[in-house]
Amino acid sequence: MLTLSHFESYSSYIPIDLLDLGNATIAFCVILGFILGRYFLMVGSAYFVFWKSKAFGVHLHDFKLPKNQIRKEIGWSMVSSFLFAISGLALGLLWQAGVTQIYLDLNEYGLLYLPLSFFLYSLVHEVYFYFTHVWMHRPWVYQRVHAVHHSSVKTSPFASFSFHPYEAFIHAVFLPIMVVIVPIHPLVLLSYLTFMTLTAISNHLGIELIPFKVVRQNFISGGHHFIHHRKMKYNFGLYYTFMDKVMGTEANLGSEK
Ligand SMILES: [Zn+2]
Ligand SMILES: [Zn+2]
Repeated sequence: MLTLSHFESYSSYIPIDLLDLGNATIAFCVILGFILGRYFLMVGSAYFVFWKSKAFGVHLHDFKLPKNQIRKEIGWSMVSSFLFAISGLALGLLWQAGVTQIYLDLNEYGLLYLPLSFFLYSLVHEVYFYFTHVWMHRPWVYQRVHAVHHSSVKTSPFASFSFHPYEAFIHAVFLPIMVVIVPIHPLVLLSYLTFMTLTAISNHLGIELIPFKVVRQNFISGGHHFIHHRKMKYNFGLYYTFMDKVMGTEANLGSEK
């Protein structure tokens, strides 16, 4: 039977020596398989539940996509997954080398720190994402780095990971850097990774699922990010609206400047 101590053991997460090339190759393949499996499972589910049924939320476009858009989005997402798997392996190597702040004892910083660390990661991520995203909209950088993502004007759930490898790299380095600086439990880290995928899908769904204005005013959802894909000058945030508010780059549905 699985006990709590299972989640407090290093070998539960990394059972092999990653410095061995053969082991590192196996680990890379396992991580890549996990990332791709999660992408197809979650994006595929979202596609069938929300796009096929058309039963939920406010539809932001007509779901008629240019020819080959979904095929291209899946292709770029697979390339991004490759980079994310390298990032996962790098994170594992850093952990094994003992240079990260990843801790195993669930009580080390108190149980409250578990949700707090999740929140902290999301806040720092918001700031990191906002500034790198604005930078990627500079014309020279945009053409070389970010145009692939914006080729999806009518967003689809398949666009969640649809990035040029340069952009995927910018996203992929965030967590390996963060784990060196800010303590986090691997269970929180795994939850955060799933949260990242879920929000990426929700932001690109082309459907506004949040019925409450007060929530939409503070958290980014389909409508907020849809405006970014359509207008590009507004709504650069990731999870929260505060950076767009502070930097004066926010627009809401129906009130675009
Ligand atoms: Zn953009
Ligand atoms: Zn996007």
